[in-house]
Amino acid sequence: MKWSEIYLKTLKEKPAGASIPSHILLLRAGYISNTSQGIYLYNSLFLRSIQKFEKIVREELERQSAREILMPMVQTKKLWQKTGRWNKFEGLLLKMKGRTGAELCLGPTHEEIIIEFVQSGLNSWKDMPLNLYQIQTKYRDEIRPRFGLMRAREFIMKDAYSFDTSKQTALENYKKMFQAYQNIFNRLGVQFVVAKADSGAIGGSHSEEFHILAKKGEDELLVCDNFSANVEICPRQEPSKSSAPTPKAIEEFATPNIKTIQELAQFLNGSAKDLVKILFFISQGDSQKANSKDKVFAVLCMGDDEINPLKIKQNLGLKELPLLAKDKTIKEVSGANPGSCGPYKLKQNIPIYLDNYLKNKGNFITGANKDGFHFKNVNPNRDFKVSAYGDFCFAREGDLSPTSLALKKYRGIEVGHLFYLSDEYSKKMNLTYLDKQGKKHFVEMGCYGMGITRTLQAVIEQSHDDKGIIWPLSITPFAVYICLIDPDSPEVLKALDKLKTLLDQQHLDYFIDDRKERPGVKFKDADLIGLPLRIDLGVRDLKNNQIEICIRKNSFKEKLNLKELENKLPSYISNL
Ligand code: ATP
Ligand code: MG
Repeated sequence: MKWSEIYLKTLKEKPAGASIPSHILLLRAGYISNTSQGIYLYNSLFLRSIQKFEKIVREELERQSAREILMPMVQTKKLWQKTGRWNKFEGLLLKMKGRTGAELCLGPTHEEIIIEFVQSGLNSWKDMPLNLYQIQTKYRDEIRPRFGLMRAREFIMKDAYSFDTSKQTALENYKKMFQAYQNIFNRLGVQFVVAKADSGAIGGSHSEEFHILAKKGEDELLVCDNFSANVEICPRQEPSKSSAPTPKAIEEFATPNIKTIQELAQFLNGSAKDLVKILFFISQGDSQKANSKDKVFAVLCMGDDEINPLKIKQNLGLKELPLLAKDKTIKEVSGANPGSCGPYKLKQNIPIYLDNYLKNKGNFITGANKDGFHFKNVNPNRDFKVSAYGDFCFAREGDLSPTSLALKKYRGIEVGHLFYLSDEYSKKMNLTYLDKQGKKHFVEMGCYGMGITRTLQAVIEQSHDDKGIIWPLSITPFAVYICLIDPDSPEVLKALDKLKTLLDQQHLDYFIDDRKERPGVKFKDADLIGLPLRIDLGVRDLKNNQIEICIRKNSFKEKLNLKELENKLPSYISNL
């Protein structure tokens, strides 16, 4: 492929609206072009990277016996109502009306349609295990599309769906997909982390995310040698046991105009970590563990910790995320405004939960449930009843993981997500099969997403420098950038023919910069576009029977003749 054959315009300046390096570089190198909010066009070079990545994905999935299909993008309201997601899919459904008034949407994910598909023929245990995937353009009407292909409205995703007769075989399918994902990201040659994750809108009980590590990644991950999780759900181990202090007598003291934990810490010349924070929540839906009559409940934690509503939901067995109580409710329950509330002498009897980090602690300083006053020496179980202790706060760097090692913080970009769905969807859509004895059961499912276009940008976010992109060999549009310094010279064209033969023999693809531009301009563009190896052909060097190579990732340069290049190419390539 030659530059003159494709439409490729590079930009010198940072494009407006792009803030992270990978988005800026994709636009500057002309790989993508923005057509409307969150919607992009991919140029000929970028399409090659997409196709190379898709090839790796297909090879690794097929190796695990997943088989490719292609489902429609346009789906009906009727179908989406079967799972109750027509109104629930986080507002991301792009809805439209057809000619006859039928309500339709663009597929943001394909559980509904694939279940309907297999339902038409899947009768018996003999049809499973089954794992079907597709690579397709998805549309999600993201509220705040941003960072280019990272959070786009239209993007390419690989999605796979597995069907099994038992939990055991469903988890075997899950494991195979996990292995496929590991192989894919290893083949890409990027640094990645697998993190335990929340199941989100997809539902299900078990889920893991693959993240490409990058400083500007949207997700925070907490990682130790043998455990890693998204901070959204990361559990933390209780601190080592200490004996509780001897409870002292309660004292009330004035704290005029103190509203926040920081203000209280300053007022007491102490630090927030020595104080105790209380938050009031309203549970939506019933709780298995909490008394369902008690809609309002309180959670106490260390003053410098942050309460995580998702963990409250998980650890109290709530159906929905609890909501923070409004000031009016807080006043009704406690008798005071936020800032002066505490667990002792509440006006109403509500369940009080304590974060594990408060275990074996006492003599708390807490609000007195009277505006402008606090108590000293409030003690759990002496002064108020503890409904339960639990893991209710965000884990932080340095906290212990469930495997007792200190967690370290990283930032990542979620590129893949695996879910074990159990029978959640098959129940909703009545997907059943008959076992060997002719007995009916719900099918066990898994679903597995991977952002194709997001992954490509995430790779760039991890692999670039001031000058441009540094593609790994696995998904570079071309391995070699041939720079014709004197594109009209017969000597150069003759050398080009020989070089092409050599590269063809070594199965290396190449992109030829045949523009009539100054060498400086071409070198800058070559760095920006970021192919791993550049080979320059110029009259001056060719007179000395030499060509120059430049390795993008470390700027290593060498002049050598064609024979020497032939010998050295394999070692250059293996180090790219
Ligand atoms: P996120 O948490 O980033 O919103 P998600 O959990 O909603 O993503 P999934 O439903 O798990 O996403 O989709 C599978 C994969 O599709 C994700 O891991 C991600 O790589 C990709 N993806 C999801 N939303 C987008 C988007 N708006 N733009 C680009 N890729 C996306
Ligand atoms: Mg996800």
